[in-house]
This record gives sequence, C-alpha cells and structure tokens, in this order.
Amino acid sequence: MSQTMKALVLRGGKAAIEHRPIPKAGPGEVVVRTTAASLCSADAACVSGAFPTPDGTVLGHEAVGVVHEIGALVSGFSVGQRVTVASTTPCGQCANCQRGFSGHCGGTAWGGYTYGVSRDGSLAEYFAVPSAQHNLVPIPDGVTDAAALCVPDTIASGSTGPEAARFPMGGTVVIFGQGHVGLAATMTARAMGAGLIVTVKARPGGESLAKTVGAHHALNLAEHDIEAEIRQLTSGTGADCAVEASGVRESFPRAVAVTRLGGVIAVLSSYSGPDDASLSVPLAQWGWGIGDKTILSTFQRSGSERLGRLLRLVETGRLDPTPLLTRHYAFDDVERALTEVTAREPGHIKPLITFMD
Ligand SMILES: [Zn+2]
Ligand SMILES: [Zn+2]
Repeated sequence: MSQTMKALVLRGGKAAIEHRPIPKAGPGEVVVRTTAASLCSADAACVSGAFPTPDGTVLGHEAVGVVHEIGALVSGFSVGQRVTVASTTPCGQCANCQRGFSGHCGGTAWGGYTYGVSRDGSLAEYFAVPSAQHNLVPIPDGVTDAAALCVPDTIASGSTGPEAARFPMGGTVVIFGQGHVGLAATMTARAMGAGLIVTVKARPGGESLAKTVGAHHALNLAEHDIEAEIRQLTSGTGADCAVEASGVRESFPRAVAVTRLGGVIAVLSSYSGPDDASLSVPLAQWGWGIGDKTILSTFQRSGSERLGRLLRLVETGRLDPTPLLTRHYAFDDVERALTEVTAREPGHIKPLITFMD
C-alpha cells in the first residue's frame, strides 16, 4: 500500500494539493481514512493570513471517514468503522475542558481549534485525531456521509448558540447571519422548540433556504426595518433570544435591541478588528443597565458525547443539514472548492468533497 497521500497544504499564501506521508497514530490518536470533507470561511482565513497558520500545514477541519489505525491507548473503535470528529479537538483534561469550555482548551481563546491552524487538518486522504477517546465518534448506520459531514463544524457550532441560550419552549428566536453557522442555528432552534424563528441577513437572497431549514420570516437589512418588524411580530415585546452569527460587529447592538426584557443574546460570532475595537450596547434597548438581558459569548461545544447527540438528531430526522451542501467536488478539485467558498458566491453555502475508495 502507498505510504503517501494527497493533502491540501498551505504554502506561500496559497493552498495546493501536495503528496505527504500518511500520518501514524500516536498512543492517544486514531488515524482516519477520509471519505468526505468540507471547508468554510475559516479555511479561507488560514490562507489569507487572517488566522496565522504555519507554512506547510494541511488545511481543513470538517471530515468524515473510516478508522484506519488505532493508537495503543484508544479503545472502543475498530478498523473500518465509520467515524467523525468535531472541528475543535480539545484535550478533554485541562481546566477549561473540565469546566465545560473545551473550545478554549489549554487556557487560550479558541485553544481547542487546532486542525488546519496549529496542527495538520483533515483536507487530506488521511488525518490523525488527537485525544481520540474524547473526540472521535461513530456515525450511526442510518446517517449518510454527506449528512454526517455537516455535524463537525456547521451543526456543532450553530447549535451552540440556541443550546447556550436556553430559550423557553415556543419562544421567539432571531438569528442574525445565514451562512452555514447561522443556518445551523436556525435548524437547531427549530429542533429545540422555538415557536417563531426570524432570520436576518444584510441583503436579499437565500430566503427559501432559510425557510427550508426552519425560518418563519426571512428578513434583510436592505429592505426591512428589523427592529420595527420584530416588535410587530412579537406584539411589542421583542424576541426571547437573539443568536448573533453574522460576524459583523454592527449586528451586536441590533441583537440587543430586538431582544425582550429578560431575554438572551447568544453571540456565536468571532469579530475581527483592530486591537482597540469594541462592541457597543444601546443603553435604552438594554433597559438602561437593568433590563435583565443576558449576553452570552459562545464557541463550539465539541467532544464525542455531544457529537453523538447531534448525530442522533440527524439519524431520527429532527435535523436535515443536507440542503446546505450546495456543490459537489472530487478531492482533486478541492482547490476550486476553496476558491468558490472564498468568493462567497450567492446561493453557495457548503461544498461536499468526496474521495475515491
Ligand atoms: Zn469550518
Ligand atoms: Zn483541554
């Protein structure tokens, strides 16, 4: 058998397929042979330098496959078993992991996010899963590779906002941003019992996809007075919960404004800006400081136990993420897949990248 594999590697500010040695499983690791993968704007950020990434790193953090090699300290898996792993791969043992904030593994913000940033990622024919006992999860037989592929980042990230907000059953949820994370927040808000879901985008477009995955009203800033319309839709009270998944700083005060007194604002965005950048809170809509509104900032919650629960929602038909897979590529076309995601073409959400058996 060949000892080398094809991998999408960052080299000199560009991403290109290179031949690399197949990784060997360390004691706590499992090596997976990839069957399908996807990518997102975070991979584009690694290429552009927005996420500092060493030259020579294999990109990617969204993949499914079958177990190829099992490290000496890992039990409960068998070679050939279908598996996936979250896009964050925390150790499961450090203080932040033990406190439930595994996204910040190792004591640094986003410390659990290592694939394709500080260690080789999964846009390759094989990839290694660190702390596999904590991170690796079997895929149920009834879940296709394509559906499972949406769990490691899209659903694991998007569901974290509604889950952290703990909005009341039947409550109103407003979701800012309808990229793959916002769309996943929309579908999980529906699965979690939201009674009325309103999505907000900057521009028109994508309304039918937002409604397919759960939105009752799909608004945009160009054509709608967001605050007035949400007030009207909620009989003047505002929403129980706003999930901010747009990544745009200007959305944050809007999320505060559309939330009712006592409501929750769950921020899923990582904002960019200069070192002295800040977010503003509109005081009147904040109840002048005593409005009982809660602001949560959340980052993907991962680990095999949580991923297993998310996969169960897919298995039982409560979540169907496959409408988000808008284009299909063979792995040899992965460079084009990355270019097209980076271009943010309207109507294109996620690539499905498949590998030869
Ligand atoms: Zn991603
Ligand atoms: Zn940790």
